[in-house]
Amino acid sequence: MAVHGIDLGTTNSAIARTGSDGRPQVLAGMSGEPMTPSVVLFASPGEHVVGEGARREARLDPEHVCALVKRRMGDTEWRFVAHGKGWSAPAVSALILRSLVADAGFATGDEPRGVVITVPAYFGDEERRATVLAGTYAGLDVVDVLSEPIAAALAYGFGRLDGTPELRKSGPIGARPADAAPVETVLVYDLGGGTFDVTVIELADRRISVLAVEGDHQLGGADWDERIAVALARRFCAENPGAEDPLDDSAGAQALLLAAERAKHQLSDAERTDVVVAHDGARSTVPLTRVELDEMTAPLLRRTIDLTRACLAEAARRGVTRVDRVLLVGGSSRMPAVADALVADLDLDPRLHDPDLAVARGAAIYGEKKELERMVAADLRTRGRLRDGASLEDAASADLDDACRRVADAYGVALAQVRRAAEIKVDTVVSRGFGVLAVAQAGRLEPSWLVHRNDRLPIRTTRSYGTVRTDQSEIQLTVVEQQGQVESPRPEDAKVLIVGEISGIPPGYEEGSEVRVTFEMGFDGVLHVTAFHVDAGIPLTLTATTGATLSQAEVARERDQLGRTRRRE
Ligand code: AMP
Repeated sequence: MAVHGIDLGTTNSAIARTGSDGRPQVLAGMSGEPMTPSVVLFASPGEHVVGEGARREARLDPEHVCALVKRRMGDTEWRFVAHGKGWSAPAVSALILRSLVADAGFATGDEPRGVVITVPAYFGDEERRATVLAGTYAGLDVVDVLSEPIAAALAYGFGRLDGTPELRKSGPIGARPADAAPVETVLVYDLGGGTFDVTVIELADRRISVLAVEGDHQLGGADWDERIAVALARRFCAENPGAEDPLDDSAGAQALLLAAERAKHQLSDAERTDVVVAHDGARSTVPLTRVELDEMTAPLLRRTIDLTRACLAEAARRGVTRVDRVLLVGGSSRMPAVADALVADLDLDPRLHDPDLAVARGAAIYGEKKELERMVAADLRTRGRLRDGASLEDAASADLDDACRRVADAYGVALAQVRRAAEIKVDTVVSRGFGVLAVAQAGRLEPSWLVHRNDRLPIRTTRSYGTVRTDQSEIQLTVVEQQGQVESPRPEDAKVLIVGEISGIPPGYEEGSEVRVTFEMGFDGVLHVTAFHVDAGIPLTLTATTGATLSQAEVARERDQLGRTRRRE
């Protein structure tokens, strides 16, 4: 059963899988639409609606409609309260995931279990964990979380390199095919509904390397809508001094935001439009031009350009001398002002690239890669040609070739497709630096940064700490993550990831006995912390009391809760 790719977007989500020809296909549900609005209506205590139905209802029943939940991922305090129950961001996201999976089941007759879920490149550890948790709540096996720009680049690179897999001549593994595409440096500018990500990626024949990431996950199309809504409300109130400000009423504000978004879409094609604002018994027709829209939202666009400039500067430090291609993804990059600013300010030549579905398609390609790679590795291991824990890169090229052939035969997949999965390597970088809170010289607590943003993944770093008294049984550990653009020495500027206790230090050791703490981050960007007592030679236990690390019991409880709400079509 294929691993499916899911783009769990701020405003819209989509699910895809690769077909028997290796091409990614987006699966539409009963609605026939490839994209599902990431909106949940809690219709009653036991019933929910996901998608367009919920989005439409936002106007009439705003208290029970949850939108833009992705912006809350990683915020462990946040709850959406409906019918007296609080829903965490992963729990709401799980409802969206379950709806997508049900749609995929409807389209193919086969409900997926294994999935790759995409996240903004700029998501830190906690948001990534929250995403995995959402999948777990939904009863899915989250094979990996993948950065959205990598997914977009995979979808683009797939078309660039392969055409159809059958067309590509299969030389021996490791040999560079004669028709291999040249190395290309790609800038992915991804402006979605609620997040902005900019990434510089190098696409080689068999390797995708992320060189630099920047972004802001509180910046997206929804901010444009808000600015437009404020302007519309101002003009409505000026024309109707006796009427209530629509922004003072939650249903009025929702209606205005939807009208603002519609107007924004129209202004991507037309130079002007008329917006009807009706509220509190009054009605105005407000003309709006593209020039006005661009003026009122210029600071938002400027921020994306500044972040793009910073990302290019970081890539330049890593030796990138030119950008060959600029891919615009995310629905908001359809606004003409985006391409105009990239041309005028940064002298780039942007192209829209399948802005709505590239991410889901790329996730499906990656899902297939993970699945086939797993099968090839399992084949090699059962034959004793690959050690447990070793990666495919460690296998002898002739063995790998044979294993690919066997997997292709056994599962009826084109050999080129299996090879592609085994060959393509994805390298990425840390999206935000992290470190530990430690006592600095002045006696103050300060973050001591262990890993810096844009360091290459995977990362494994070890720090030693000494106990401060004899027979000390535990050590407090606070792991923090960088919040802003730069690493700050002030603890209040950092986000606490883990407040934990390393316990189980055996008695009988003097002050200063060494505890070695290892911080590991894999390609998925999720942090794992382990500790070891050096003199005793034993692993220690880390108990986290903060962060998205939940116990099995909590996961089971959330799943159970979700299981009791029914999906209404
Ligand atoms: P995404 O998260 O990639 O699905 O992007 C959704 C965002 O794209 C929303 O804020 C939409 O309002 C915005 N969007 C979609 N189509 C257009 C368009 N034609 N012009 C401007 N913004 C758009």
